[in-house]
Amino acid sequence: MDDGVLQAFDVQGTIQATIVSTTHLVEEARNRHKLSYTAAAALGRAMTGAALVLPVVARRGRLTMKFQGDGPLGKVVVDASSKGIVTGYVENPRVELPLNSLGNLDVGGAIGKRGYLHVTSDTGFGLPHTSTVELASGEVGEDLNRYLVNCQDAGSVLIVGVHVSRNGVEAAGGLLVQLLPDATEETICMLENNFASFGTFTFLMRRGMGLEDILRRGLQGFELHDLSPFQPLRFDCRCSTERFIQALKGMDRQELLEMAEQGEAEGRCQFCNAVYHVASERLMDIAEGAG
Ligand SMILES: [Zn+2]
Repeated sequence: MDDGVLQAFDVQGTIQATIVSTTHLVEEARNRHKLSYTAAAALGRAMTGAALVLPVVARRGRLTMKFQGDGPLGKVVVDASSKGIVTGYVENPRVELPLNSLGNLDVGGAIGKRGYLHVTSDTGFGLPHTSTVELASGEVGEDLNRYLVNCQDAGSVLIVGVHVSRNGVEAAGGLLVQLLPDATEETICMLENNFASFGTFTFLMRRGMGLEDILRRGLQGFELHDLSPFQPLRFDCRCSTERFIQALKGMDRQELLEMAEQGEAEGRCQFCNAVYHVASERLMDIAEGAG
């Protein structure tokens, strides 16, 4: 299944739903950062969550999420833009933990149960806006739900899942259903019933169900409008040699000259792990303000 997003509303105007498939972009992140199983699950859930929440908070902009918990993984940072681009990194990508009591990868233990989730949205108008909530469990889905309820005032169901085996990321995706102002007790009841028997998101994907089938399973009993066109998603990054040079231009002349003496400057992008090199001559030019 290709990575991408589908959105739907119901005819009665009680709910709005977003569903994403992110298998390939999470696998790309796993390869680039050489992630452990647990780190792949944690970063994958966060990237999937960012793709789900982006249309809600910055439909035509970008969104950065930082999970800062007290677990061994350190920071988990993701960035998503409305151009369908998602990227991210984990501070300690090799951390591995034993499975939790449910037999699942211990994402909550790895991110940490205590700490904060910071969500910065940039709609392209005015200054970016940051909201902070305490982590609910470090399991990502619950934390994002807490953010949506506290900061976006939106009752919602949010599921994110990543299935990673020794072959890599086999399935990743998620679903967000939000209550709209016309929602009633009956709406909530129907959703609760549907999700009580929904199963695991990645299990449904691995059984070969498409995004639309999974969406309709979660929204049984709702009469849906036409679905939005499928919007592709991919792993990509905003870094470039030019950006690296811009960063060098902000450095002290003496530091630049020292780097030039050593031969070259090397920079690594935290988000995508790309490496950039700037040669000695260019460094001298930058140091002399002629870069
Ligand atoms: Zn990059």
